[in-house]
Amino acid sequence: MPPEQAEDDLAARLKARIAREGPLTVEAYMEACLADAAAGYYTSGQPIGEDGDFITAPEISQIFGELIGVWAIAIWQSFGAPKQITVAEIGPGRGALMADCLRIWRQFPPFREAVSVVLVETSPTLRQMQSALVSDYANEEPAIPLAWAESVDALPGGPLILIGNEFLDALPIRQFVRRGEAWRERMVGLDGDRFAFAEAQDDAEADEALRRFAQLASKGTVAETRPAIAPLIETLAARAAAAPLAALFVDYGADTPALNDTLQAVRRHAYADPLAEPGKADLTAHVDFDALKRQAAQKGLSAYGPMPQGELLLKLGLAARQEQLMQSATPDQRAMLASGANRLIDPQQMGILFKALALLSPGLPAPPPFPEERSP
Ligand code: SAH
Repeated sequence: MPPEQAEDDLAARLKARIAREGPLTVEAYMEACLADAAAGYYTSGQPIGEDGDFITAPEISQIFGELIGVWAIAIWQSFGAPKQITVAEIGPGRGALMADCLRIWRQFPPFREAVSVVLVETSPTLRQMQSALVSDYANEEPAIPLAWAESVDALPGGPLILIGNEFLDALPIRQFVRRGEAWRERMVGLDGDRFAFAEAQDDAEADEALRRFAQLASKGTVAETRPAIAPLIETLAARAAAAPLAALFVDYGADTPALNDTLQAVRRHAYADPLAEPGKADLTAHVDFDALKRQAAQKGLSAYGPMPQGELLLKLGLAARQEQLMQSATPDQRAMLASGANRLIDPQQMGILFKALALLSPGLPAPPPFPEERSP
């Protein structure tokens, strides 16, 4: 096989790596599948949209991004309407959410003059797509400053609103299987020439997260942790102590620890085998909102939610915005608007499985529409 072909064949490279080093953790496997520089899912493909593998809330309806845009304005006001504010989106996909936000912000001159937008995206392909969709809205006079960053650590200082829709679910997870009183890490090894799940030979060291799961272990047998959350929370907490910060994460997952294997692969809008074709399918796992909230509170952030997506959007004014858009829509557009909005809020569709969690600098008022609450 010529070297460039070998370089492209992620499956072959991962098999060689396993043969050399032994089984990979699920985290290492997921990391390679999603972020491999040459053949990772997000680095090399066009995953999102009707013609891709999966569709997300901002791609389903413009109302989603518009309401988040209105939310950002309310948060800026609760910060005391600072003269400069950064709104950053982490994992912006094709840029639909930010395009819808920018359209709304243009109608609020005081906010439009204060805001700068930063898109946090590692994939060059997706950066290009985001630029194509977002730049026109940002550049229209008077222009709104627009930039890209590699990570949250690289964002400019000062007041910050951070938005992440279906970002956390793409962060790699570790999985542990309950064996008696201990946990064994779930690994990806080889069965002949095929990838197969295996278990580490030694018991896993029980860190805080695993000790907590142990108390619940009768509920199920697979615990999942997400190592990349801790450094993200650290960064947010440090910033939140220095300047007003509000982060809104919307994602899918349970509000209580699930103790299930939630690793899933999606390709062309259908479930696939996570081990079948590394780098060719989207790999995600449920977000553990309970763990996220605890980690954030431990670092001194105020945490609100999780609130079901349907409730969030209805309380932010989905029905009124839908009504307004309907008035100037054709019959076809009306049907699209109605089915899109319904898909976002319907309890059988995205309304309950998807949830929103807000993390704020301590001492700020509760972010609308979350009720005031005491930290856990
Ligand atoms: N928010 C978008 C896309 C969700 S897909 C939407 O709702 O349509 C996940 C996004 O997270 C992609 O843009 C992907 O490139 C990005 N992503 C995944 N891991 C990342 C990381 N470690 N840092 C920054 N972005 C990442």
